[in-house]
Order: sequence, then structure tokens, then C-alpha cells
Amino acid sequence: MITIFNQIFGAKKPEKKYCDLHIHSTFSDGLLTPQQIVASAKERELDAVSIVDHDAVGGIEPAIQIGKKLGVEVVPAVEMSCMVGDADVHIIGYYIDYQNKKLITVLNDIQAKRVDRAKKIVEKLTEQGADVEIKRVLEIAGNGAVGRPHIAQALLEEGHISSYDEAFWKYIGYHCPAYVLKERLSPLDAMKLIKDFHGVSILAHPMIYNNRSLIAYLIDQGIQGLELWRCEHSDNEMRYLNNLITNHHLIATGGTDCHGGRKGKILIGESKVPYQAVKDLKHAR
Ligand SMILES: [Zn+2]
Ligand SMILES: [Zn+2]
Repeated sequence: MITIFNQIFGAKKPEKKYCDLHIHSTFSDGLLTPQQIVASAKERELDAVSIVDHDAVGGIEPAIQIGKKLGVEVVPAVEMSCMVGDADVHIIGYYIDYQNKKLITVLNDIQAKRVDRAKKIVEKLTEQGADVEIKRVLEIAGNGAVGRPHIAQALLEEGHISSYDEAFWKYIGYHCPAYVLKERLSPLDAMKLIKDFHGVSILAHPMIYNNRSLIAYLIDQGIQGLELWRCEHSDNEMRYLNNLITNHHLIATGGTDCHGGRKGKILIGESKVPYQAVKDLKHAR
């Protein structure tokens, strides 16, 4: 309604348009529902928002529906968890064909493997005399992708450990007695999957990996863009990423990676991503 009013009467919207293209909902490990996220984006005067859940697309459609009512554009996306050695690498697929049944089957399969891994970890914990119920672990995970943080919480509830960190160095960290290897896609598998389902592949939080040769390798392999606008990037890191983006004609995106206050306050909108990122993604689609 406001948009129509503006078109007819020429009222001015704020000059600069912003978006937040990386937010987690209750469909993975976020605390806000897709509806709450879109409402919050509206409150913060964002023009577009993207629900980016881990290996899950269930939050997209409800976000689009509420977005239509509130006048906030919702960019469909999924964040694929990949492994390089024992390190997690995340690749986002924007504008992926999220309603495609084959894609949903692939994602369900990834989720099933996570549950399988959690069960194996719980079995190993029993052998170590640190019993937790898998039922409780899954309850803690809720809609989200079950993983070690949920197991750590169950261990804490049962009194087997006295701090969250202890779970990792005593039982479930890499090389610990209850560790079970993850079965994950490689980044190249994820890029292929995203391409097969008409998405645009973007490397999430590129500086987190502390591995510049990995970034170079993925660019070489055809990754289409990098997350540039992230609150944690230093000026130096911004310059470094900006150079890569210019030299290799990549798309610059970004977002807050907001988990709905899980890591403190609700960050939605704080990374000040220019709306141009959405235009570039649409163009590349
Ligand atoms: Zn991530
Ligand atoms: Zn994320």
C-alpha cells in the first residue's frame, strides 16, 4: 500500500536501500520464526531479507508469504554445510529452486545423516559412562539441524560435565573418545548441487576459515561470489575481499548471520548490505 502511495504521489523513500542476506530461522538453529524475521526486517526498514538455514529450505515459503503482506522482498537461499579436512566450510545457494522435490530429498538425506551421527555419538558416550537420551538430544535440537552443541547441552543437563566446553575437550571434540566423523559434501559437490538447482553459489563468511588458499581455490573452481559485508570484517579484510571481487568479477553479498539472539542481541540489518547485492544475484541467476 505504501509503495503504491509513493508511486502515485511521488513520496520519497530513503535513498539508500539495504538488505540482510544471511539470517537463520527456527528451521535450522535460529531462535526466530521466518515470520518474526521478516517483521523485524520491516521494522529495521530493510528492503530485502534472506532466510538462510543450514541444509534446510522449510522457512522460505512462510517468509515469502509474510514478506508479501509487509512489503519486504524475500530472497530464497540455503546454506550448505561442507567439509574440507576436518573444517566446516559453508556455501550459500541463492535463488535455488527451493520447491524442487529432488532438492528437498537431497536435503532430507543430509538431515537424516546428521541424526545418524548424533545416534552414533550417543552410543559412544554410553560406552564412556556418560549416558544421554537421543530423544532428549533431538528435543533440544527442535526443528534445527541436530549436532554436537545439542549433545553438549544434554551432557550438561545430565551432570556429566560442568561446562559446555568440557563436552568438547572431554568427549565429543575432534580426536576425543566419542567423536564421530561427519559425512558431508565437499564444497565442489555443493557448488554443483546449487548449480543443478539453478542457484547462485556464494562462499559464506570467507575469513572464518583462516585459509586464503581455500578462497583462491574456490574462486578458481567457479564460486560466483563472496560474503563481503559482515560485521566481523576488519578494514584490511574488506580491502582484501574487495580486491578479489573486483579482479575476478564476483558478486558481493553479506549479512549478519543472525541466529535470533543466540549469540547476544538480534543483529538483523546491522551489516548494512547494499540492495545492489540482490540485483547482482538476480542478474547472475
Ligand atoms: Zn555458516
Ligand atoms: Zn549461517
